[in-house]
Parts: sequence; C-alpha cells; structure tokens
Amino acid sequence: MAPAYLDNNATTRVDPQVVAALLPLFTESFGNASSTHDYGAAVAPALKAARQAVQALIGAEFDHEVIFTSGGTESDATAILSALETQAGRNEIVTSAVEHPAVLNLCQHLERTGRAKVHVIAVDEAGDLDLDAYQAALSDKTAVVSIMWANNETGKIFPIAELAALARGCGALFHSDAVQAAGKIALNVRDAGVDMLSLSGHKIHGPKGIGALYLKKGVKFSPLFRGGKQERGRRAGTENAPGVVGLGVAAKLALEADRARIAALRDRLQAGLLAAIPDARVNGSGARAPNTLNIAFACADSEAVLHKLDQAGIAASSGSACASGTMEPSHVLRAMKVPPLYLQGALRFSLSRETSDAEIDLVLEKLPAIVASVREKSPLWAEMLKKTA
Ligand SMILES: *Cc1c(COP(=O)(O)O)cnc(C)c1O
Repeated sequence: MAPAYLDNNATTRVDPQVVAALLPLFTESFGNASSTHDYGAAVAPALKAARQAVQALIGAEFDHEVIFTSGGTESDATAILSALETQAGRNEIVTSAVEHPAVLNLCQHLERTGRAKVHVIAVDEAGDLDLDAYQAALSDKTAVVSIMWANNETGKIFPIAELAALARGCGALFHSDAVQAAGKIALNVRDAGVDMLSLSGHKIHGPKGIGALYLKKGVKFSPLFRGGKQERGRRAGTENAPGVVGLGVAAKLALEADRARIAALRDRLQAGLLAAIPDARVNGSGARAPNTLNIAFACADSEAVLHKLDQAGIAASSGSACASGTMEPSHVLRAMKVPPLYLQGALRFSLSRETSDAEIDLVLEKLPAIVASVREKSPLWAEMLKKTA
C-alpha cells in the first residue's frame, strides 16, 4: 500500500478501536435490537451509547434527535425529501453550486421531474457564497435550504449560523451536509440553528455504510423508508448495530483528535509546495477545514500527476469525477472560476489524524519533480514559458 495516504476526504482507514468495538456485534451480541429476548436486550445499550456519542459530536440537545442512516447520501436525501413533503405550500429548494453530488444530483432530479424548483447559488473565486443571490432566492415558497458545512474538495467552510438565520426568517427549514465538517471543526447544531444535518461514518475513521441525520426536536419529518418502527419510526429497517457502534466510537475519537496538529501539517504542505513549484495556486481562501488542501499547478494535467504520485507511493485525488474515461473538471472548481490553465491541474490532498510528518515530507520531496516532468510534455506550458520569457 501507498506509504502516503492523503485522500481522507474520499474515505478514511477504520480506527482499530472502532473495529474492536464493533466486532462483538457480529458474533456475541448479534441480536436484533427490536427483539424482546436477551439477545435483543444486549444490543440496546450499545446503540444508546453510540447515539449519545454522535449527539455529543454535534452538540445535539437530545439523543433522539439523532437518526442512524446508511451514510451521508441517505441523510442528505432524507432531509431534503422530508422537507419538501412536510412544508405545506412550499416547493422550492435553495442550495449551492458546490454541493456534493448527493445533494446536487438529487436536486436536479427533483427539478427535472417537476417536484421542486431549485435555486443554485453561485460562489465567487474565493469560494464564498453570493449572499445577495442567496437572500434573493429565499421566499415564502422555500421549503428547505441545503448548504454544506465544509466543502469536500477545497475544505471551504460556509457561515452556517448566518445562512440558517436567514432561512429561518422566511420560514424555511435549514439542512447542512456536514460530512466533511463533523469531527474536523468545532460544530454545534444548536448554536448554528440548523434543523437537519448529515454526517457519515467512513469520513471520520468509522465504517462505510453508516451515517446519521440530526433532526431537531419538533421539526416535522417524513421518513424515506417506511416499515418497522426502528429509529422511532423514522428510519425503518433492522438497525446496523455493528455500524452504529462503530460510528459511536468514531465520533468519540473524532472529538478527541488534535486538530491543530492536522492543520499544522496541512499548512506545512501548502507552504512547501507553493515555495517549490512555480505557477501554483491554492483553490479556496478564507476559513477551511484543517485537513484539506486544494492546490493547482498551471498546465500540469492532474491525471498524469496523480498517476506519477501513485507510482511514488502517494495517494491523492483531483476531486473531479472520472466520466467515461475522460477527466471532467470539477464542478466545484468551475463554480469558483478557477482559470482554465489551472483547472486541469488541480490536486486535493486531504489529511487525517493518522497523517504523519513523513507522509508530508514524501509529497514535498516527490511532487516538484513530478509537476516539472508533466509540464515538459505540455504544449500549453511551452507557450506559457515563451510568453513570460
Ligand atoms: C462523502 C460525502 C458524502 C456521501 O457520504 P456517503 O456516506 O459516502 O454516502 C456526502 N457529502 C459530502 C460532503 C461527502 O464528502
């Protein structure tokens, strides 16, 4: 395996403490939490403890405000669809151009099928939301606002409390996809005044296929899955007890993580790359999640750079979707109007609490030469050199 794993916004290694805690739920305590016999009864306290750990991570007041789901995607969909269904007389969604596909593709689908009118709010070059457009889009027709807490490609943090207050002012519900914020920055659902919030286990060293939806007490709700009475009838289906327990431990460990150390490593990586590689730019300024660096090198095709990084034992990402064999520039960076010469040369390095100094050193050692070798083959780079000569 690669000695440097710097793609933690895609997924993280499950913490060994998480694995140790969840394994007995497969073997010894395998009961169905809804069963009335001993086997079921053994599971309930473990689920309760996990719910409280998630509650603590996000600052929820009551443990029953936490609904376990299959992950970030399901939490996002549940929040948006529930709001559309419960907000009588309102059928509009306000979201941003830089949301995760879990939100953007759902909104597109709802618009295409005539179930909602969607306002996609633009961002500027720094990645900040156009607040005037946001306010103009809000109305007594707005059912729900869905704006992410931190962006998965740039780490950019949005002013959630301010955005939520504006949404509340027009009677709309406010949902935030906090998959890349939970466990990475201080986050409190009560202080921010959000109605719903999504998080995911596998982005915080928990298992894949488990997540949570925060639903503020008193907010009307319509389940995505109907069936059994699990999760107080709000999410039918036998509880994923091992996943839930794993998420609980992951939430607890995330609260204890040394975020300042992660930020210092990220900042060292950023400063080192900017100093060593000419014609580089950081995408997204202002407040960012401490673990994310999106950096672009003019005329250094990211696909080629990533391939060479991989050969050097470094796993990173371009943040863009690989569609039918051709790399499509990221919708996030396009929305931020990253200049064309840089758009194809963007890389995302995402760190975690497991990231070591040695991993950062390896990138700083290898990447300058890799970028130079990729640029050598670029006709655009040759042109650029001529112009500046
Ligand atoms: C990963 C991610 C998701 C999807 O979460 P899953 O648990 O993989 O479904 C949603 N939003 C953001 C911002 C993400 O980074």
